[in-house]
Amino acid sequence: MSTAAVIVAAGRGTRVGGDMPKQWRMLRGRVVAAWTLDTFLSSPCIDRIVLVLHADDMDLAPGYEGHDMVSVVAGGATRTASVRAGLEALAGSDTARVLIHDVARPLVDHAMIQRIFDTLENARAAAPGLAVSDALWQSESGQVTGLTEREGLFRAQTPQGFSYPDILAAHRAHAGGAADDVQIARAAGIEVTIVAGDERNLKITTEADFERAEMLMRGHMDIRVGNGFDVHRFGPGDHVTLCGVVVPHGRALQGHSDADVGMHALTDAIYGAIADGDIGQHFPPTDPQWKDADSRIFLDHAIAQAAALGFTLSNADVTLICEAPKIAPHAGAMARALARIIGVAADRISVKATTSERLGFTGRAEGIAASATATLIKP
Ligand code: MG
Repeated sequence: MSTAAVIVAAGRGTRVGGDMPKQWRMLRGRVVAAWTLDTFLSSPCIDRIVLVLHADDMDLAPGYEGHDMVSVVAGGATRTASVRAGLEALAGSDTARVLIHDVARPLVDHAMIQRIFDTLENARAAAPGLAVSDALWQSESGQVTGLTEREGLFRAQTPQGFSYPDILAAHRAHAGGAADDVQIARAAGIEVTIVAGDERNLKITTEADFERAEMLMRGHMDIRVGNGFDVHRFGPGDHVTLCGVVVPHGRALQGHSDADVGMHALTDAIYGAIADGDIGQHFPPTDPQWKDADSRIFLDHAIAQAAALGFTLSNADVTLICEAPKIAPHAGAMARALARIIGVAADRISVKATTSERLGFTGRAEGIAASATATLIKP
């Protein structure tokens, strides 16, 4: 007995305009479809997801093709045909309930999914609706010709939930051309319970809807924390570069780049906060072009990757672990150097140091270790 979601993303979205279907356009740094999918993926009510894509878009489900909860199927020429393809993909599974959702409603939340799920305990079908509060006019040639009684009228939303065997049979028996799955269920004699809808759960149809969705999402600040750790060993030399500052020392740190262990830890903390790998992935040490590179290149890249997702660095804290050189006299300059590269006020960056009480490799002065924490925010 499991619950599936069929996410319908096969439309061409021609009403919004632009050169790509609306579900693949960016909304606050991510494609619309990713917002919708992630809400269902993280809902405790949902066991598996069928993502229905247009045949031309089959390679546009980045990160989801290999997901063990998600299967991707090609849709049909109409919305009804696409939903049917999604439902058929679940045939033979242990699916007892299915929630059918339009991908263009990216603000759907867990509470809404839960309401539908709970109502299906005692109903064959449940769908969210919003009572109409505006007056409804009839018109001809731009003139008001009458008033429609709004009593008992609802605006339909998705996800619409059904007993899976019921809605599969209803779709198989339906001639096509339905506005939504509630209509198909009712044509098969299935009663549909109305569940409280949500004004926030808007369907992106026009350009103005994109702006409204962005505005509604703005109230939810996205805060990420990442940590980084790095070690470089000492070799011959007369200085070390730490957090962008050259410090005279009887030895040098060895590494493929300039071996700025503090800047590396901070860079990895930023990559970590946005779940975007690490320095080694972006700048492979096997690549000769990064030989003796200024580590600023790495930090600049991590900040740019974060910015592309809409994140800025709020603060960072770097700890250098070594017996020598003495860090304290240089810590302020190091914080200012990092702040300049990142483009934030220096009082948002902390650089401090500790020894390891002469224990371990740092205690034996064989190298320097660094750990860093970074907080990124998307307002
Ligand atoms: Mg390193």
